Amino acid sequence: MTRKAAEPSRRQPGPRRDKEPLHCIAACGREVDIGTCVIRWDQPGSLVCPNPRGRSACTRHDPRLNDAPTLPFSRYRIHNPDQAYEELKKTVHQFVLHYDVCWTSRHCHQLLADSPFKGSHFYLDLDGTVYQTCDLYWKTNTAPADDGLGNERAVHVEMANLSWQARAEESGLHLLQTDAYRKTDAGWLLNLPAGRRQELRLQSFQPLAARAYGDRGYFSRKINGRTVRMWDFTEAQYAALIRLCRGVHELLPRVRLQVPWDPEQRRTPLDRLPGFSRFEGILGHAHVQGGNKNKGIKRKYDPGSAFDWGRLRRALSR
Ligand SMILES: [Zn+2]
Repeated sequence: MTRKAAEPSRRQPGPRRDKEPLHCIAACGREVDIGTCVIRWDQPGSLVCPNPRGRSACTRHDPRLNDAPTLPFSRYRIHNPDQAYEELKKTVHQFVLHYDVCWTSRHCHQLLADSPFKGSHFYLDLDGTVYQTCDLYWKTNTAPADDGLGNERAVHVEMANLSWQARAEESGLHLLQTDAYRKTDAGWLLNLPAGRRQELRLQSFQPLAARAYGDRGYFSRKINGRTVRMWDFTEAQYAALIRLCRGVHELLPRVRLQVPWDPEQRRTPLDRLPGFSRFEGILGHAHVQGGNKNKGIKRKYDPGSAFDWGRLRRALSR
């Protein structure tokens, strides 16, 4: 990975060279090379945010873009990127991790595109490919959090993982007849339907769970009152996520390279955090959203019981 100066560089105008690696994430026209494959909204093969919105604390855009309905993507223009970047750096202090309950990132994108308001800045596919769907200046409606303001202060990544839908017994959404994972000599392998495999950038990729729990393979822990049983994310997803976290921090320094930590239990708690809105760093959807009936906000559990918080924490502290 190429380390850059503390201040992210401005993109040089002009066409890209054919062989230039596509490794950069962007905010207000600034780019940071994260050293792993990124397909951005303005590049071939991209996935474009279906429903961007303006953040209410940022002022370098038409304020009508803060509200529904969604307008054509070309209408989401940043008027003064330098000033916009200063506002964005003050505003955003959380990078929220999600599982997408989908087979692949393209599958997730289809579902979000069917919604009149949902989206996510990033998708992280099984093969480690990162998709950035819009400039981080924009808001995406991915996690309202219990105070309804979660999207204003955050950027989000939806990571491909079926969560409990991978277990036939719990597959109320995808209605699987057999578990989606099977044990092989190499580990627990996700059986991708042929049509879904074609959606991967690396079509020969073997989607193995990075870790397994005992003989059964899947992890099981209680999160916000629900027992979540799921297989792990892939090794490629962890490797790319660590780079993505560093890149988001480099662009938006208030997103500190830290995850929630309970010093007494000596581990990352899984439930909604007290003071969740003030946390500055990288955290899960479940950490900000235990559910708020008065506001009609649902209880959330992602990135789930299998997510390796210890690995992320150790990687980011190095
Ligand atoms: Zn979520």
